[in-house]
Amino acid sequence: MAKLPLHTQFSSIQALRDALHGGSLSATELARSALDAIESHADLNAFLHVDPELTLAQARNVDAALKAGNAGPLAGIPIAHKDVFVTQGWRTTAGSRMLENYTSPFDATVVSRLADAGAVSLGKLNCDEFAMGSGSETSYFGPVRNPWDLSAVPGGSSGGSAAAVAAGLIMAATGTDTGGSIRQPAALCGISGIKPTYGTVSRLGMVAYGSSLDQAGPIARHARDLLDILEPMTGFDPLDSTSLEHCDGASNAPGRIRARFEAAQAKQQQNGSRPLEGLRIGVPREFFGTGLSPEVAQAVERALSTFEELGAVRVEISLPRTELSIPAYYVIAPAEASTNLSRYDGVRFGHRAESYTDLEDMTSRSRFEGFGEEVRRRVLVGTYVLCHGYYDAYYLQAQRVRRMITDDFQQAFSQHCDVIMGPVTPTVAKSIGDNREDPIADWLSDIYTLGVSLAGLPAMSVPCGFGTERPLPIGLQIIGNYFTEGELLAVADCYQQATDWHQRTPGQQ
Ligand code: GLN
Repeated sequence: MAKLPLHTQFSSIQALRDALHGGSLSATELARSALDAIESHADLNAFLHVDPELTLAQARNVDAALKAGNAGPLAGIPIAHKDVFVTQGWRTTAGSRMLENYTSPFDATVVSRLADAGAVSLGKLNCDEFAMGSGSETSYFGPVRNPWDLSAVPGGSSGGSAAAVAAGLIMAATGTDTGGSIRQPAALCGISGIKPTYGTVSRLGMVAYGSSLDQAGPIARHARDLLDILEPMTGFDPLDSTSLEHCDGASNAPGRIRARFEAAQAKQQQNGSRPLEGLRIGVPREFFGTGLSPEVAQAVERALSTFEELGAVRVEISLPRTELSIPAYYVIAPAEASTNLSRYDGVRFGHRAESYTDLEDMTSRSRFEGFGEEVRRRVLVGTYVLCHGYYDAYYLQAQRVRRMITDDFQQAFSQHCDVIMGPVTPTVAKSIGDNREDPIADWLSDIYTLGVSLAGLPAMSVPCGFGTERPLPIGLQIIGNYFTEGELLAVADCYQQATDWHQRTPGQQ
């Protein structure tokens, strides 16, 4: 059994922070032990780039700041970034051969904000190529493995992030969610993750997939740790044209989410033994139809009963366009991807073919060699639906459906419920290679997460049980209205105080 790093002795970021501030351990010691653990867990294939010198230099700076008494709120906390956030030091590949040797001249806003808060980065995490996938199998650098069962996928596309946190290699990780890529791997690896409202976290320096959908968020063990990481990530960024300056009247600045979290928690405390009294949970009928495996349905049902015991009431709702979220998303996301990825032309960025006849041949060979099969499939689909003659029939139609899906959620929130709950994925983690012959099977498994992304809503996943056939983790999805990240985290925290699914670790469930 490989050694676990020092930070695994602490149950939360808060507890680790107290130890660091109290001087009982240093950021450098923590970083060293995490680096060792990462090396001994190479079989997970979770990390793509590790650079001990860069990490230890960060840790030493943090130790100096701790001594001087001016350390940031995340001083010394070991984290790592999904390899779609550009970093000045480590290479940024987005899991693609196209960017195999790419190093950015600047840090993504998310990366610099977390570094400013004092977090120490252990490196870059494997993911589906350009974040396209649901199993972390499309990476040019090989599939990521699920720490609960090395033959299973960790979910995708932020699979390296989820696997590394679940295995205890780091305390938290960044991820990105275009159609489910934070919630889904968090669910399949038995940890927690939140995708905030579109526009609350800067996309500057995030390798673009579907720009109207992409949103960054944290993956960690439980809701309280998510709050600690999400807070410094958020905030208006004048360099990102889709970044929000205001959220619900409040400034989009660190402090907003924590304030709402604390207000929600104060209300819970007033309610005494039934902390969630008055909370209306919408349970969409369409999330429990065919395709949902009985073991996932059962775990989600049990979680809903726990919420009822905590005082919440359950309301059946309908999100009638749920099924349409798959075709709508798989038109819009590839359309945006095809334009975003046109920048990889062999001239300005990334891979260039060694031999070619003329400029056009160079671009086409470079793209063919640089992109994997799934990325090429998406670029083709995207280019097709944007073609003159097909644009109205596919792209515009998908945008209309997107609006209707958004309206369905708004109707639910304005008339029936405060939060929506349901499964994250239809099944527990599949085995690596299961869907190799049938890429569409992966697309279908995104049914419960895509609508939220199309609507730009915040949503999270928290662990709520294990499969019966194979003891693999199951996640519960909690969806809120715009800007309710704080309330969602408070609801999740309340559940996590009443249950211990989030405390289970691979090898000892
Ligand atoms: N599975 C979805 C896709 O492949 C979502 C991926 C994501 O959220 N990045 O597009």
